[in-house]
Amino acid sequence: MRCVGLKAGEEVLVSTFTFIPSANPIVYEGGRPVFVDSEVNSWNMDPVLLERALATRAAKGRLPRAVTVVDLYGQSANYPEIAAICERYGVALIEDAAEALGATCDGRPAGAFGLAAAFSFNGNKIITTSGGGMLVSDDAAFIAQARHLATQAREPVAHYEHRTIGYNYRMSNVLAALGRGQLRVLDDRIAARRRIFEAYRAALADLPGVGFRAESPWGRCSRWLTCLTIDQGVAPTDCEKVRLALEKTNIESRPVWKPLHLQPVFRDMGCEIVGGAVSERLFAQGLCLPSGSSMTEVDQNRVIAVVRKAFAAG
Ligand SMILES: *Cc1c(COP(=O)(O)O)cnc(C)c1O
Repeated sequence: MRCVGLKAGEEVLVSTFTFIPSANPIVYEGGRPVFVDSEVNSWNMDPVLLERALATRAAKGRLPRAVTVVDLYGQSANYPEIAAICERYGVALIEDAAEALGATCDGRPAGAFGLAAAFSFNGNKIITTSGGGMLVSDDAAFIAQARHLATQAREPVAHYEHRTIGYNYRMSNVLAALGRGQLRVLDDRIAARRRIFEAYRAALADLPGVGFRAESPWGRCSRWLTCLTIDQGVAPTDCEKVRLALEKTNIESRPVWKPLHLQPVFRDMGCEIVGGAVSERLFAQGLCLPSGSSMTEVDQNRVIAVVRKAFAAG
């Protein structure tokens, strides 16, 4: 956010259906997050709402400093449309690709869209260095500035000279080596996660009210996590009952992300939301199932059996 020139009081549009670190850097810099809802099919930022939000702001001569778009659960957002919209308004596009390493969009890898993209190598991601992440950009000046800020903003002189306040945000070389080793098996892990998704879908899609997110026509999904939706108007049960049934047999599952516009911290700040109904419904209906790359068929069949039993029990 500092590298895109965000100043206190300026707005940044950001996906609402995401984990909070997509928005935190905006607040760190004194900016104001404006949340944009998802589209029904991809669960990612709705280009129509984005366009609307930019149009109203352009009319007032107050464009946001940037747009942060999230690639949710391994599926890239609709960049063919979103990148064109951001370009038309001259607003910087930042991609939060933390969940989408290895996914593609229009034949290009997730993280290749916009001015810069962020990846995470946290413990639950498809590749992990235990913590930390990666910032990518094809803008050399942007990367030079980010690297400078991430290493305590030391000036390139022999003694310790500082003209601005930086951070210790760099990854250690030991952890980077762990990550580089795993890059070799990234394709295998994506194949495993896609297999896991297909097995869940084959075993559960017939249940009343159960849905799975279809792969978007513009890009290949890594299926980082398999999430299902349970429409409680149609199903004899709901997400929370299924989650508790799984928990009883020592299987961890989690609700999908709670939309950021519903988070108390952002409500208290009076943050604006553009749309909102789609992500609210997904939050009420979505459950992330165990999806680790090393899951066995036996493990997965246990999960499937408990979910089916929960439906039978109602
Ligand atoms: C995991 C994740 C992050 C942040 O990851 P950290 O490495 O924990 O900082 C950011 N955005 C999204 C969407 C994520 O899922």
